[in-house]
Formats: sequence, structure tokens, C-alpha cells
Amino acid sequence: MAATLNQEKLKSFIRDIPDFPKKGILFKDITPLLKDPEAFHTAVALLAERFSDSGVEQVVGIESRGFIFAAAVAYELKAGFIPVRKKGKLPSVTERISYQLEYGEDTLEIHQDSIEKGMRLLLIDDLLATGGTASAVCQLVKKMGGIVAGIGFLVELSFLQGRDKLKGFEPHALITF
Ligand code: AMP
Repeated sequence: MAATLNQEKLKSFIRDIPDFPKKGILFKDITPLLKDPEAFHTAVALLAERFSDSGVEQVVGIESRGFIFAAAVAYELKAGFIPVRKKGKLPSVTERISYQLEYGEDTLEIHQDSIEKGMRLLLIDDLLATGGTASAVCQLVKKMGGIVAGIGFLVELSFLQGRDKLKGFEPHALITF
């Protein structure tokens, strides 16, 4: 099925929640878009279409909202799905990377045997903010021998200049604020 809504219309399904999860953060809530069958379908179709010629073998999804889109895009592209999770959630042996947050540090993990040398990967997350998360995952999969063939987001907060941390990857976002 093809995408039926335009990107401007898609944008109207993103809801602003002030002061969540803490004071001063304007949270972009994607749940209205997920709830609308046409909007959800369009978002997945547009993301998949953008990377349909990239020779992607596996889609890497970042916990937890990233999983929703990464798994659906992987299904559309007839690719596999590889989860990147917060520390301590994956059951087998992992590779991990720690990266700086605005306050403090976070650690992400991926199964050590999930990526083969030269494997073409598409990285999908719900939202690009400062770019710290996506850039950490790029470093992680490159270290394991994977090739980042594309990076896709539903939403980009362009004023945070996250794409500066992803130079050389040309990240694609469906909706920009
Ligand atoms: P960053 O590493 O700063 O690019 O942050 C990206 C991650 O944090 C994404 O996985 C988002 O789910 C989440 N995130 C950061 N800022 C926001 C925001 N304003 N609204 C919703 N999610 C956000």
C-alpha cells in the first residue's frame, strides 16, 4: 500500500507535551500518529520507500519508541530487525557503548553476534534531538564491522543540530520542527 498523506499533514499528528519528562523539555508525543491508521501507515511507507534502493539487510532499532518504526520498516523492506537496548536488557553476550547525555551518561547494548562484517544496516529511531544516541549507535555498529547504509527518523528537532553529529551519513527525517 502506498503513502496517502503528505508530510505537512503527518506533522499535525505530533503532539507537544510541555515539561515532560522534566521541566523545560517540550516532549514530541508520537502516539496520536501511531493511533491513526492512515498516518502510521504513511509514515512507515515513506521511511521504507526512502531506503528501498539502499540494499539494506538489517534494520537496527533503538529502544524503545524506535522499535515501533524500525520493525515496521524492516517488514516493509523484507529486511531483518536488530534491537539496540538499554543496559542489561539483552539476554546474550553484548557489545556496548556509553555516551554523554545532557546530564550524565547512558549505555546502549547490541548482541555481539547480531552484525556480520560488511552487513548493510539501516538505523531507525523515532526522533533526532541532539544526535548523541544515533551517533553512539553508528560508532557501535561500525566497530562491529557493519556498514551504516542509512539513518531515518520520524521527527527531527533541527534547532538542536543533531545532524552535525551524524556528518557523512545524511540522515533522513520525515517531519522537521
Ligand atoms: P538525542 O540523543 O538527543 O538525539 O535524543 C534522541 C532520543 O531521545 C530519541 O530516542 C527520542 O526518543 C528521545 N527524545 C529526545 N528529545 C525528545 C523530545 N523533545 N521529544 C520526544 N523524544 C525525545
